[in-house]
Amino acid sequence: MEQIHKLPTILANQISAGEVVERPASVVKELVENSLDAHSTEIDVTIENSGLKLIKVVDDGDGIESSQVQTAFLRHATSKITEQRDLFRVRTLGFRGEALPSISSVANVLLKTSTGSVGTQVEYKGGKLVAQKAAESRKGTTVIVSSLFYNTPARLKYLSSPNTELSKISDIVNRLALSHPEVSFSLVSNDRELLRTSGRGDMLQVLGAIYGVKTVSKMKPIKAKTPDISVSGYVSLPELTRSSRNYISLILNGRYVRNFPLTKAVINGYGSKLMIGRFPIAVVKITVDPALVDVNVHPTKQEVRISEEPKIGGMLSEAIRTMLANQQLIPDATRDL
Ligand code: ADP
Ligand code: MG
Repeated sequence: MEQIHKLPTILANQISAGEVVERPASVVKELVENSLDAHSTEIDVTIENSGLKLIKVVDDGDGIESSQVQTAFLRHATSKITEQRDLFRVRTLGFRGEALPSISSVANVLLKTSTGSVGTQVEYKGGKLVAQKAAESRKGTTVIVSSLFYNTPARLKYLSSPNTELSKISDIVNRLALSHPEVSFSLVSNDRELLRTSGRGDMLQVLGAIYGVKTVSKMKPIKAKTPDISVSGYVSLPELTRSSRNYISLILNGRYVRNFPLTKAVINGYGSKLMIGRFPIAVVKITVDPALVDVNVHPTKQEVRISEEPKIGGMLSEAIRTMLANQQLIPDATRDL
């Protein structure tokens, strides 16, 4: 038997990259979430070759102080939480301090950042710092990830077709844009624009940019509120369905999450109005006290535990039932616009 020894940092980072950076879309998610946490108003994502050649995220957010840039690449280094009780009131999308070290351990990363005064640029290759210099002082951060998974051939092999990987990127950017209509997003892949939102704060406009005006004309608003829970969003009329549950997006306190019971609650709201195997398109924003949500369940933070889940589910189903009942009072409401 070998002696027990602590793993070298780069190897440890590559191991956590296995969970945090499953595919190009995970890199896009982590970088855009960092931009959102930095109060950006505009986030532009550029992709080449489904993210394997290049992923570039440009934001106009807070930026990172020059003296802190290298710290941002250390594992478990974060500006977002400090002490144990912060874990129970997480208001940011990130808090684990894993994204930058993980991504930079399996790719080349160039990060340019400025808080509005002096700017800094760093370059990491396979987890190692290879260059640092002064950069332009425009406030915000640009991260360019290239040669993703160049040193993890098994991960590269496990990826799906370029089209599938691109659609996963597009899907995640759509959901991030839906969860933040107040931020203007763009997604360009191999010079083709796949999404552009205005950032005017209107979820319906973002839905239109994603699904087209015709589809969105068949989506109706829902709303429900108790003193500690509020639910709002848009859901499709029963005539507008898809063959997968994937078009049901849940946004919990600004974070896109997967949650089976709440997804089921959306479907249940339709009662017998959906055909078997058909599912609605829905985007539901849920706001609760962060103390009721445990986001520290999985490294990607898409799985969460919510203590008031049955109550929120009940509110969701009921809000959809009410919307559908009102629809029946207006005979023409379901007609094509
Ligand atoms: P986390 O988001 O969990 O804190 P990351 O590894 O994603 O961990 O980022 C580390 C730190 O780097 C963040 O806490 C933040 O302070 C800083 N940072 C990363 N990206 C940006 C960005 N786009 N704008 C401003 N600060 C950033
Ligand atoms: Mg992060």
